[in-house]
Amino acid sequence: MSMSSEYSGNPVSVPKQIDMTGDGVQIAWDNGQTCTYPYRYLRLQCACAACVEEMTGRPILNVAQVPNDIIAADHLLVGKYAIQFLWTDGHDSGIYPFQMLLRLAANDDVVVCE
Ligand SMILES: [Zn+2]
Repeated sequence: MSMSSEYSGNPVSVPKQIDMTGDGVQIAWDNGQTCTYPYRYLRLQCACAACVEEMTGRPILNVAQVPNDIIAADHLLVGKYAIQFLWTDGHDSGIYPFQMLLRLAANDDVVVCE
């Protein structure tokens, strides 16, 4: 029996632990990295239909309306691939795929990883 693995995607790390810290959302990935995502930064990355226009990718979110002291009040895991945050500005429709979070960690200096 042989099954093609071409659609299974690259192995992606998954969070072992998610903590809300004074500095932001701290995610301990199972690749050994622990990364801290500043709250407001992460809120501004939201790619849901209320924040980004679906057809064009144009940002709709009014950045000025996102409080500087915003935090994530709660979170839940979406399936085995993403995290949904409940922000203190009341926004909760954003889904952050693990792959997106890992990409931010790899590419963005404001995400601090140890
Ligand atoms: Zn959103």
